[in-house]
Amino acid sequence: MAEDVLDTKAHREDDEESLRPASFDEYVGQNDLKENLRIFVSAAKKRDESLDHVLLYGPPGLGKTTMAMIIAHEMGAGIKIVTAPAIDKTGDLVAILTSLSPGDVLFIDEIHRLNKVVEEVLYPAMEDYCVDVMIGKETPRSVRIDLPPFTLVGATTRAGDLSAPLRDRFGIVSKLDYYNDEDLTKIISRTSRVYDFAMDDDAKYELARRSRGTPRIANRLFRRVRDFAQFYDDDHISLARTQEALDRLKVDNLGLDDVDRRYLLGIINRYGGGPVGLDALAASIGEESVTLEDVYEPYLLQKGLVKRTHRGRIATQLAYDHFHITREFEE
Ligand code: ATP
Repeated sequence: MAEDVLDTKAHREDDEESLRPASFDEYVGQNDLKENLRIFVSAAKKRDESLDHVLLYGPPGLGKTTMAMIIAHEMGAGIKIVTAPAIDKTGDLVAILTSLSPGDVLFIDEIHRLNKVVEEVLYPAMEDYCVDVMIGKETPRSVRIDLPPFTLVGATTRAGDLSAPLRDRFGIVSKLDYYNDEDLTKIISRTSRVYDFAMDDDAKYELARRSRGTPRIANRLFRRVRDFAQFYDDDHISLARTQEALDRLKVDNLGLDDVDRRYLLGIINRYGGGPVGLDALAASIGEESVTLEDVYEPYLLQKGLVKRTHRGRIATQLAYDHFHITREFEE
């Protein structure tokens, strides 16, 4: 499989790439999505066609990029990876599209951040495999360029921010959910195997429980816990070492980190439990609203620690209980 990474997340830690599952069989969890895609890929291959365009949405780190790579691999196709903010001008997108080989997957991460003019080039590309480009400075004229059939896989944390014309051009739209503890435990077992560093079963489960349902976080925490184990010359990772490391990293027993705690305690202590508007809360704890909304809130909402109402965010009784704080007034 030819893999061409035009612009990917340079900040990704050391050998994270080696942890990526390469096939549907190795990809843990997200069963509905995985089984449906398996059928769509197999049917497209029988028809000798490229797969219909796929939109994957959900919080960061749940495996959207990994799934796009698996789709390419299972289709026997190449993949080009690009993030939407890196496509500045229509010419950039045309250059990418015309460099595709038949059947290739084009993965556009953060697709909700495509600028409008660039986005409009995608419409005919997705629908009719062609682009219209303007040539000539003095008397510009439009020329149609045919493209090879390809599959666009778009990923976004904010499906609601996609324009209707773009969203409607995806034949397959799927949401990725947080992983349950059992699936995360399987992912951690795999990570332990790939890194060839053993971990006790109860330690794996503890790490899974404290990884916010997110494989990327589980893998990152695995590496930190391994650091602690190696520092103390342990030949494997035990439950006690895992607990010690996670406590020292300030990851609590619900998997909440420092930002989660400042968010919840901000609502409780500064705004009497809410309701408080997101922007006011973000300013008061020194974080960006979009980061809170895309990265932190989905998990806090899923855990039932916060409620989103039309008047603003409200900390729930569960949040008070978690911090052992008695509320002054009833919800
Ligand atoms: P972003 O939204 O930031 O692009 P993402 O959803 O694309 O994130 P990935 O980069 O695909 O997330 O996944 C993060 C890491 O988690 C990968 O390196 C991969 O090893 C691991 N991972 C993700 N999903 C799975 C899975 N289902 N099974 C095993 N490992 C997984």
